[in-house]
Amino acid sequence: MKVLLTGGAGFIGSALCRYIIQATQDSVVVLDKLTYAGNLKSLAPVAASDRYHFVQADICNAPAVQQVLNEFQPDVVMHLAAESHVDRSIDGPAAFIQTNIVGTYTLLDACRAYWLQLDTEKKQAFRFHHISTDEVYGDLHGTYDLFTETTPYEPSSPYSASKASSDHLVRAWHRTFGLPVLVTNCSNNYGPYHFPEKLIPLMILNALAGKPLPVYGKGEQIRDWLYVEDHARALYTVVTQGAVGQTYNIGGHNEKKNIDVVRSICALLEELVPEKPAGVKQYSDLISYVTDRPGHDFRYAIDASKIERELGWTPEESFDTGLRKTVQWYLQNKGWWQAVLNGSYQLERLGQGMTNK
Ligand code: NAD
Repeated sequence: MKVLLTGGAGFIGSALCRYIIQATQDSVVVLDKLTYAGNLKSLAPVAASDRYHFVQADICNAPAVQQVLNEFQPDVVMHLAAESHVDRSIDGPAAFIQTNIVGTYTLLDACRAYWLQLDTEKKQAFRFHHISTDEVYGDLHGTYDLFTETTPYEPSSPYSASKASSDHLVRAWHRTFGLPVLVTNCSNNYGPYHFPEKLIPLMILNALAGKPLPVYGKGEQIRDWLYVEDHARALYTVVTQGAVGQTYNIGGHNEKKNIDVVRSICALLEELVPEKPAGVKQYSDLISYVTDRPGHDFRYAIDASKIERELGWTPEESFDTGLRKTVQWYLQNKGWWQAVLNGSYQLERLGQGMTNK
């Protein structure tokens, strides 16, 4: 199988690319604009494979997208390219509207034209898999409620509203034009190669540097955490076995309050890095409560029973095992995150990865 993977230099996209190259015989073409969130170093473990190719392009650029489709002739498209950080969507929504909505439209249109001219067999096998978020459902206030595939959309932030728009476009291209689509909505991911603006890597790296650990409000918000490698396996399961037109929710059954996540990271660091920065008695002393994010959703929790029942996928990591692996990865891969923190990952990439390899 030939996979066209948009956003493959990002956190989840790179995990998916590493999974496909390392665990299957399939080929991958990563199409990525390399925004601040794209990092070719996250693809270094597969860079030598002749089944991996990289193209730097913007999904909003229709001719560039068409060229990649025509040259590589993918069997499936897995669409992960997006602006993904809620705080950035509050500071500057324009890029979210452009990439998440206009970009998804541009990609859908190009894929439809490509799909229409395929021969019957390839046309039947083709899939457009759109990767989305549980944030499109808004938030939950009851303790036992869960998001299912039929929960009405009620997005709260510019980010989640733009993702909700893109989900609607994808379903419209299926209903109106017959494009064979699949949609997945997943909960908060965590794991290796996560950009340090997101909660878990931010807390690990701030704690190691003896900096404050900023927690929104009282840290009472609840998220359902999914280890990124479990997610990559789920995505591959859906694209190869999912039923056309269906939506699958993906979650890790790991509901945690933000403050408990931060406390767990502190406890792991106490065990793994007992020698603390000067002046720090306990990592948890660094916790500092900051003004809550506007429109902050209270609780997300996924009912993942459909993908488990119909496709046989279940997460392998519990939050405890996944968080330990994640902290250990950041301790063992300082070069990766130091290059992100000092910005050199962006300079280095200008000299490489511009070609189709
Ligand atoms: P990310 O921000 O780490 O990566 C996004 C990637 O998309 C980057 O490599 C970036 O360079 C690329 N990109 C951005 N704009 C582009 C454009 N116009 N053209 C081409 N490439 C572009 O994101 P992520 O966390 O890996 O998320 C991937 C997908 O999964 C997103 O669609 C996101 O909405 C969804 N999602 C993420 C989470 C999570 O917890 N991270 C949870 C649910 C859903």
